[in-house]
Amino acid sequence: MTAETLGQVLAQDAAITTLRRGLAAGRVHHALLFDGPAGVGKELAAFGLAQALVCERREAGSDRACAACSACRRAMPPADPRGLPLHPDVVLLERGLHEPARIGRRTPETQEISIDQVRALVLARAAFGPHEGRAKVFVIRRAEELSISAANALLKTLEEPGDRTHFVMLTENRDWLMPTILSRTQRVRFGHLPDAVVERLLAGRGVASADAKEAARLAAGSFEAALALVDEQALADKRAFVESALAALDAPTTQGAVDLAEAEKKDKRALAEKLGALASALHARSVAALASDPTARAADVAARQHALVLDAMVRLERNASPQLVVESLFFAQRAL
Ligand SMILES: [Zn+2]
Repeated sequence: MTAETLGQVLAQDAAITTLRRGLAAGRVHHALLFDGPAGVGKELAAFGLAQALVCERREAGSDRACAACSACRRAMPPADPRGLPLHPDVVLLERGLHEPARIGRRTPETQEISIDQVRALVLARAAFGPHEGRAKVFVIRRAEELSISAANALLKTLEEPGDRTHFVMLTENRDWLMPTILSRTQRVRFGHLPDAVVERLLAGRGVASADAKEAARLAAGSFEAALALVDEQALADKRAFVESALAALDAPTTQGAVDLAEAEKKDKRALAEKLGALASALHARSVAALASDPTARAADVAARQHALVLDAMVRLERNASPQLVVESLFFAQRAL
């Protein structure tokens, strides 16, 4: 049987104790702000709290979810970072997470969590009680990205939320949030993880102990950062991408580019990292070509290709589809 999610959060004893006390007393604050560095368990704790709140079998006075009922199983954090929770009363908000059409927009959210997202996901439902569970929980990733109008639209709901409605806002820095939001939330602080905990988490993912130690030291208490440092598969994928992309840039036909675009269409975050690596490689190419012959067209081409890749990264960040970004990158370069 899976353990309840809140119990899986490591080394955040003060935060978890606060949450458990609220659960046991039946008085969980309706607007919580989880404040702390990236990759230390804030989101896991948010889903853990949500799980305990919607659990069908948790008895009064208990501070833990049963982890076995249907509500508990569906309130788990989504396996894919771009995925959504399965439980209808656990609602995840994040800039760009929802298809524009789903939240009544024509264009993707590029800079902020729009008022459209807040209207469609929060205001439209907050007036009603929970769909099926015992509570309704809104988890907001990077809450500082709420647009001013979105934050303002939330204020009234934060002040007088519906029955059994809770908000959990996640941020790395509370100073980035509007004072009007801050004053309506209860802060729960999350700290950096001790190196030993990061090491243990990495070991749990099968990372060799020497590598885990080194990564933990470099990651400054963030499991997420440590994971990025030891993810050999990601490194190998990155190298393969740069190799295929350089070949596709030089190829006389577009087949390589089309294949690459197809292969990259699923994972936006991974593509952003791969494009970063490609940009570095092209920059190095142009510097090398320039050193060997200042008049060389090769240096000029590499420099322009480098600029196109940087452009592609911006478009990806602005939520263009990964496939389209790769395709247009290669078609633009053919015009050089
Ligand atoms: Zn349960």
